[in-house]
Amino acid sequence: MRILVSGASVAGPVLAYWLTRHGFEVTVVERASVLRKTGGHAVDLFRPAMDISEKMGVLPRVEERATGTSRMTVYREGSRRPVGVDLSKIFGATSDRHFEVMRDDLSEIFYDAARDDVEYVFGDSITAISPDGEVRFENAAPRRFDLVVGADGLHSNVRRLVFGEESRFSSFIGAYLGVLTLPNASGLDGELLMHVGVGRTAGMYGARHLGEARALFLFRSERELDCHHHDVPRQKELLRGAFDGMHPDVDRWLDELDRTPAFYFDSITQLRMDTWSRGRVTLVGDAGYCPGPAVGGSTSLAVVGAYVLAGELARAGGDHERAFPAYERAMAEHVRGSRAAALSVAKTLIPTSRLGVSGLAQGARLISALPAGPGRALLRLTSKSARLHNSMTVDDYPPPP
Ligand SMILES: Cc1cc2nc3c(=O)[nH]c(=O)nc-3n(C[C@H](O)[C@H](O)[C@H](O)COP(=O)(O)OP(=O)(O)OC[C@H]3O[C@@H](n4cnc5c(N)ncnc54)[C@H](O)[C@@H]3O)c2cc1C
Repeated sequence: MRILVSGASVAGPVLAYWLTRHGFEVTVVERASVLRKTGGHAVDLFRPAMDISEKMGVLPRVEERATGTSRMTVYREGSRRPVGVDLSKIFGATSDRHFEVMRDDLSEIFYDAARDDVEYVFGDSITAISPDGEVRFENAAPRRFDLVVGADGLHSNVRRLVFGEESRFSSFIGAYLGVLTLPNASGLDGELLMHVGVGRTAGMYGARHLGEARALFLFRSERELDCHHHDVPRQKELLRGAFDGMHPDVDRWLDELDRTPAFYFDSITQLRMDTWSRGRVTLVGDAGYCPGPAVGGSTSLAVVGAYVLAGELARAGGDHERAFPAYERAMAEHVRGSRAAALSVAKTLIPTSRLGVSGLAQGARLISALPAGPGRALLRLTSKSARLHNSMTVDDYPPPP
């Protein structure tokens, strides 16, 4: 049985790995000409995704590439006194198994895990999928597949071809996100430097093994801004406007906008679809159920979704009419929970009032100052997201020996 997967980031390679382990023949088509190695941002693997990575035998590589971010210094806008936070305690309290890793490192690790058993086609994209499984591409000749899976992210091409325009399914949660790569001039090592104000949060971090750093910008906007998805100069202008006068550190990071080799800007939107499957096609990861980039634990969700989809297809002997609904049932609660958690994380990370700004800094300091037991208990009580990521249960789908 031949399965085509569109997208080679997180969900795509994990799905390809498990499908081949279950005996399916897999082709992955990726629009980028090579596996992405520049830019990218830190993402989280929580317990269920760590368990799946362990089953794939890649956990030592994930650990080796962990960002190692263990301290956070928070400046509240208008106050000169920084608050120091022990992030390792916060991470320890939010999940009993958690790693932060750069997304590009993670996709390389997952890609390497099955690269010899999967046909990877870079630099191409699907242009049409017919109900009988004939697939057309921008460059390659048409080919026939039994099933097609869109693992091509929040702005999924497969979803657009099969379900229609993204605007029908996306819901703006009132915030924007920007990331840029910049020199690690302050030599940040294992540290996140944050400036938090009402409606805006900016941070910079360096990963242990990366020469450069990343600056992350989150800001609120009641309405969607007038800006085309590909209009980079306008996006940079909006970012400068949103963070104007926040702090000299933030001005320095924004100065890098003209020189950065990698820049990302997008609204924070959630996808809400009644179903992710139609005929022989289904969606996995951000393509089907992104709860909101940077706020919803979507990387873990993508790993879990890919594992479950492959497992349900194996369980149903490749019968997609049974497997796709089973996959959707198994994921529905995780997806709903992640959406709700994302809204509450966004509210905490980009406070709407001065009280929220102080609450974020003082709350984080309090938790990191408490001994592990009480700190963990307090965080579990206050964080929906932590409870959700810890409690996600996933069936076991052992592949044949
Ligand atoms: C700035 C930012 C910060 C984030 N921070 C966090 C975080 O802190 N924690 C967290 O857990 N998650 C975070 N995320 C989310 C995380 O990156 C995604 O949830 C995760 O990468 C989802 O993986 P995916 O494979 O579903 O999709 P993506 O990683 O989006 O991958 C989609 C892949 O499909 C490819 N593609 C796109 N179009 C086509 C096409 N037409 N044909 C073929 N291939 C195509 C893309 O090139 C890409 O390789 C963040 C995201 C962003 C943007």
